[in-house]
Amino acid sequence: MLLKELPKRNEICFHCHQKLSKTESCHSTLHYKASLHERKDYCTQCWKLSEIKQKSEQAACRWKMQAVKALPETFKVSLENNDERALYLLQHALLDPIEQYIIALSLLRKKILRFLEEITLENSLFERFQIMNTDQTLALMKVSLSNIDFEKVRRSISEKLHTK
Ligand SMILES: [Zn+2]
Repeated sequence: MLLKELPKRNEICFHCHQKLSKTESCHSTLHYKASLHERKDYCTQCWKLSEIKQKSEQAACRWKMQAVKALPETFKVSLENNDERALYLLQHALLDPIEQYIIALSLLRKKILRFLEEITLENSLFERFQIMNTDQTLALMKVSLSNIDFEKVRRSISEKLHTK
């Protein structure tokens, strides 16, 4: 399964039907049903129930979504009004994971991307973004922004924004 085929998060908890808050964590499972991926989301309280635990063990995969975090101010990169090119680079995976992540954060600030959720799959952390006003989503590997040569990354991004 491609990560971009992952169904969107449900608005309410599958068990108690309470609204799932965007600022709180939630737990999700995916079941295969007649070639469809059936997604179930649970609030933190319901996830602790043993009946839910049992059901979730039969799921094809399960993960925890973290609440949205503030983005670091120090990693601002100017896209020089080349937003479309930046989006193209992202969609075609023409960047390395660090560049990809920094561009995504920049497009997020410009409200060209919308943050959907953070998910852990097979021990890797991904962040899913939606391209505003479309149904398209992108899943990017989350990278650590500590210990990177930000100047070098910034230069490399700038070059790629101008190479057709
Ligand atoms: Zn619940």
